[in-house]
Amino acid sequence: MDKKTLIFATGNQGKVNEFKQMLGDEYEILSMKDLDIDIDIVEDGKTFEENAIIKARTVSDATGKMVLADDSGFEVDALNKEPGIYSARYLGEDTPYSIKNATILDRCKDVPDDKRAARFVCVIACAFPDGRTETVEGVIEGKLAYEPAGENGFGYDPIFYYPERGMTTGEMEPEEKNAISHRGQAVRKMVELLKGIEA
Ligand code: IMP
Repeated sequence: MDKKTLIFATGNQGKVNEFKQMLGDEYEILSMKDLDIDIDIVEDGKTFEENAIIKARTVSDATGKMVLADDSGFEVDALNKEPGIYSARYLGEDTPYSIKNATILDRCKDVPDDKRAARFVCVIACAFPDGRTETVEGVIEGKLAYEPAGENGFGYDPIFYYPERGMTTGEMEPEEKNAISHRGQAVRKMVELLKGIEA
């Protein structure tokens, strides 16, 4: 049986591998690097969904293929949902997360426990050559921690406290985080959606 081909519009090989694992043998997943595609994509959407669609649609239009793209970030309610869609760019793309995290904790140092809601959000878009687009979303709800904890994960993981486990996602093993995370949820939803679609 011929494999169905999917392009993942990301420069992050880790994300491509995660998808490959979950989708199984039926699909061949290619990254932009695999295809030598170098398109400058302007992520000027106002939501995670808009940005994911912009990325997937731009690459689908350029290649005539079915393309997946994701957009994710960290929202802190006490900061009006900052850093949100600007999570990667917050305080500058190259600023270490130790500084980004310390700054967020400092800005929220007087915020009481019941106002410390925070979440990670991930939207994955699939753009089809005929112009159609589908999106799925995964969300993990938790709280802004009082101090950073944990060496695992990346980005804002050390300051995202997950009450059900009594620890930050930075303290979780990767399998444990994937089972509950925004990205894990969105990937599983997209896998289900793709299973019902002819590529
Ligand atoms: P992107 O979707 O790859 O552009 O990532 C957006 C940004 O959101 C990342 O650079 C991190 O700052 C943040 N982020 C997204 N998912 C996670 C996560 O699972 N843990 C920690 N930070 C995350």
